[in-house]
Amino acid sequence: MKRRLQWFCSCALLCALLLALCACAAPEPEEAQASFFAMNTYMTMTAYGADAQAAVDRAQARIEALESFWSVTQEGSDIYAVNHAQGQPVAVHEETAALLSFALDMAEETGGALEPTLYPVLTAWGFTADAHRVPEEAELAALLENVDYARVRVQGETVQLDPGMMLDLGAVGKGYAGDLAAQALREGGVESALLNLGGNVQAIGARPDGSPWRLELRNPFGEGGLGLLLAQDCAVITSGNYENYFVAEDGTVCGHILDPETGRPADSGLASVTIVAQEGRLGDALSTSLFVMGAQRAEAFWRERGDFEMILVTQAGEILVTEGIADAFTPYEDQAAVRVLTCEVRADAGHFSQENLE
Ligand code: ADP
Ligand code: MG
Repeated sequence: MKRRLQWFCSCALLCALLLALCACAAPEPEEAQASFFAMNTYMTMTAYGADAQAAVDRAQARIEALESFWSVTQEGSDIYAVNHAQGQPVAVHEETAALLSFALDMAEETGGALEPTLYPVLTAWGFTADAHRVPEEAELAALLENVDYARVRVQGETVQLDPGMMLDLGAVGKGYAGDLAAQALREGGVESALLNLGGNVQAIGARPDGSPWRLELRNPFGEGGLGLLLAQDCAVITSGNYENYFVAEDGTVCGHILDPETGRPADSGLASVTIVAQEGRLGDALSTSLFVMGAQRAEAFWRERGDFEMILVTQAGEILVTEGIADAFTPYEDQAAVRVLTCEVRADAGHFSQENLE
């Protein structure tokens, strides 16, 4: 009996020693978090490493400052000042000028599917004040007279609009804010973090154990997820009309992404667009504009550009995944068919893919 007890004790000691050794080999990384409301949405950040909390606090402050520059409704913001300047030039912050110039370039590249001057039309649909209504055709036609990204003038850090025009950087702001918040985290020494800016996800590095982040994509047709995407060091940004919409009297679903050609909610046959890109601002600009363009034009655009990957979900329930991320995406079992989009020139064109990032 005594020997048995001795044996038991030495085993227990050995186990404790092994546990202690394991703990030394893989110490729990320090975790820092923030969750807050900004840019009309809930945001969360989780970062790992020593001093991560200070970096997270700085990243949050950065996002809050950017919101105060870009808000369409806050009276002191750059965008508010430009929108109420009645045609006069307005000096804006460097970040505002950079974001606006980027949005104008993307408007050009997407043939106007991204349209940063749509604000008066959005207001007419009641999206800006939660007072939804369906405007008359004549009202839309009159408002569209003042919608034209090509008439926005940016010179250095000065912005000038024609009287009657208004800017709204809602389609790209969160993506760029994510880029600048990620930059603040990296500057604070963070090498592993996940930022979720209201569905715009930005990953710094991989998880602390070195494995990729496991991101659940939202099912645009109802509750729950569509599937899992493994990702690291990239932005994963989704747009759809399932979150901010209203149902008109005739039963039509009116979403907050508008087709600048018609001034009406985009009706391109897509239910959601997820973009995987190196930069959040590109992902954000494209998730909105490819939603307007529809699957065929989006596919052609992807082939042409080569610096992003995407997952399109059609209204019919088909999932189209570009080949660079096809292996990283696993749809949940009961989902409809998945089709992989391929591109012959992919290797030469240096297409974006997860491997490029490692
Ligand atoms: P969210 O901001 O909900 O994540 P998006 O990035 O797709 O979604 O941006 C949608 C917002 O962009 C709308 O709420 C509106 O403010 C603005 N918007 C709507 N349609 C367009 C468009 N065609 N081009 C540019 N901005 C748009
Ligand atoms: Mg967007």
